[in-house]
Amino acid sequence: MTETLDRTITVAVAGNPNSGKTTIFNALTGARQHVGNYPGVTVEWKEGTVSRGDWRLKLYDLPGTYSLTAFSDEELVARDFLLNHKPDVVLDVVDASNLERNLFLTTELLEIGLPVVVVLNMSDVAADNGLRIDANLLARRLGVPVVPAVGNRGRGLDDVIAAVTRVAISGTSLPGPADICREAGPATEALVQVATPGGAWRVDYGPVIEPFLARVCALLPGEDAARWRAVKLLERDPAVLEEIHDPEVRREILRIADEFAAAGLEEAPDTVLASRRYAFISRLCDGVLKQVRRNGPTISDRIDRWTMHPVWGVPIFLALMYGVFTLTFGLGNPIMDLIDRGFTALGGLINGFWPAGSESPLRSLLVDGVIGGVGGVIVFLPNIVLLFLAIAILEGTGYMARAAFVMDRFMSKVGLHGKSFIPLLIGFGCTVPAIMATRTLESRRDRLITIMVLPLMSCGARLPIYALMIPAFFPARWHGPVLWIIYVTGIVLALVGARLLRATLFKGENTPFVMELPPYRMPTPHSLLVQMWTRAWLYLKKAGTVILGAAVILWFLTFYPKPPSDYVVPAGFDRTAIGSETHFGDLTDPAQIQSAELSYSIAGRVGRVLETVLRPVGFDWRIGTALVGAVAAKEVFVAQMGIVFSVGEVDETSEVLRTRLRERYSPLVGFCIMLFTLISTPCIATFAITRQETGSIRWALAQNFGLTLLAWIVTFIVFHGGLLLGLGGA
Ligand code: GDP
Ligand code: MG
Repeated sequence: MTETLDRTITVAVAGNPNSGKTTIFNALTGARQHVGNYPGVTVEWKEGTVSRGDWRLKLYDLPGTYSLTAFSDEELVARDFLLNHKPDVVLDVVDASNLERNLFLTTELLEIGLPVVVVLNMSDVAADNGLRIDANLLARRLGVPVVPAVGNRGRGLDDVIAAVTRVAISGTSLPGPADICREAGPATEALVQVATPGGAWRVDYGPVIEPFLARVCALLPGEDAARWRAVKLLERDPAVLEEIHDPEVRREILRIADEFAAAGLEEAPDTVLASRRYAFISRLCDGVLKQVRRNGPTISDRIDRWTMHPVWGVPIFLALMYGVFTLTFGLGNPIMDLIDRGFTALGGLINGFWPAGSESPLRSLLVDGVIGGVGGVIVFLPNIVLLFLAIAILEGTGYMARAAFVMDRFMSKVGLHGKSFIPLLIGFGCTVPAIMATRTLESRRDRLITIMVLPLMSCGARLPIYALMIPAFFPARWHGPVLWIIYVTGIVLALVGARLLRATLFKGENTPFVMELPPYRMPTPHSLLVQMWTRAWLYLKKAGTVILGAAVILWFLTFYPKPPSDYVVPAGFDRTAIGSETHFGDLTDPAQIQSAELSYSIAGRVGRVLETVLRPVGFDWRIGTALVGAVAAKEVFVAQMGIVFSVGEVDETSEVLRTRLRERYSPLVGFCIMLFTLISTPCIATFAITRQETGSIRWALAQNFGLTLLAWIVTFIVFHGGLLLGLGGA
């Protein structure tokens, strides 16, 4: 038995989703990880330390997994950590109220031969449900320490540390009984018992499967966890198969797997193996798990009768979502106004350092670029924070899992997963947090499809564009319907797009909807605040980095170069009829000067170049220039239009701008502008987050080009269709 060389013990905290891993990790290390009732919250592992006497325990909080068959990115993270980082101890957090199901992972861990300590967490819930668990007997049967605990109240955690230290000291994956009993102090003696002499721990797969396992095992001499690997190989687990480097051996193994599949099993190999394992667990639990009291339906069951009702489930969900949106906007808007006024005041203050009408680039950079750009984004902070508070509450109480379940039937029809629904919904607020929310999706394929179509859900930043355009071109009674058409167009395109992606690029079977429905719980205010703060901070960080950078670059593009005074202003650069011989130096109206400057700037020139591409969809260089601005953030489009049309402050004079738009464009073009900004290139922040979340710039580029191309095609069809129907062009 090797003594651990240094005094640091690495401990991997593993277990099913929602078993309380993060709670225990936080209680032990004092860290503030997000605790949630919804799978997918812990995506990467987090580390923290705790010191006890001479020992330093280094804990890693892994994502939840039901088994070591890696279906999702999260499960892969957990499995990779357990297999390759070789932790000194695996702290297997088990939900005692759902013991048999949770032991599935435990038996896999033991099969690998990892040094395990089982925590029977949620002992309080188990007791409330009338279950009694004989931890000593379970420990003897498993051959590892089993420690009852109530994580959220910190009960049993000292015993957990004691057991972990002891297993680490004994330094074996399967501590012999003598070792453990000698090492166990009086406090844990009762909990730490081992019976299997020699500790040869194995799941018995029965007479049909065992010979196949033996044959595969024979091909893996001296390998770690040969038996576990053999099981996975019979399941044709691609990751495990990849680790077999000898092509000869690999071929032989595949032959055995084929033979196994053809051996007259009643079901698919992985199902058979899983059911053997469950049968084994059921024997293991015999006498360990007792139902001492029959319970009536729990409160959770009673709530679920409504929320999961085949008819009422969907309306209840929609009503709740409606409540969430009205609340976030109702409460958020007054605060937004305050922030807005704050930034306006700040802009005024900075303006005050320069004489009125100053041409100073620094002034313009600070006021128009930095404050205008970053301020325009920070203004949405209250909405974002409130939306995430609402989502944190829905998640923390356990409702979100139900919502995904209720929506799955509909979503699977369009090739999306039930869990895609929440991100799509968040997309109406802002695409960036929505893309982050796709982390809850198990399959990478589902996740990528959702990310790709997400920008089509019309986000809040597009609303100012519609608010400008619709009243400019349509009579009042049309306002609502036109807005509705725009939103619905986005939704329909997203659903059709998802369906197409699923049928082409992301072909394959649907991931089954497997999701634990955790009992309803009261989320703690602390965890809600932590989550809210994390999101707010992420958003602020984005505003301070990506958006700030983009705003500065964009400002530069619209500010430079400055036209010389003999620059001949192009005819019709402005709505006023200025002759083609007009020189820039002769202009006096500040609004005209600004407009002429913009037409001379890089952005203006880009707009002109874009015009050749945009002509077929009915757009001129002005719209092109404004579209360049929309790349930084969609709402910049409105400000840019204001500048191109020489309307100083847009907010106060949007009526003037509307009049000028009406003079120049037909309602058909107005509609096409909205359509194009809805579908085309998502903003720069979306690009950044897509890159980050998909882990590759390729997907972000594909999303950008794909959507812009789609925008062009759709707008082209609508524009020319409209012309044919005699709806008038530009
Ligand atoms: P994880 O997914 O395994 O990280 O689970 P979390 O740590 O996020 O916990 C899920 C929920 O269970 C949270 O609401 C916790 O407050 C709650 N919880 C954790 N441990 C216990 C426990 O022992 N008893 C009860 N009643 N609730 C617990
Ligand atoms: Mg967690």
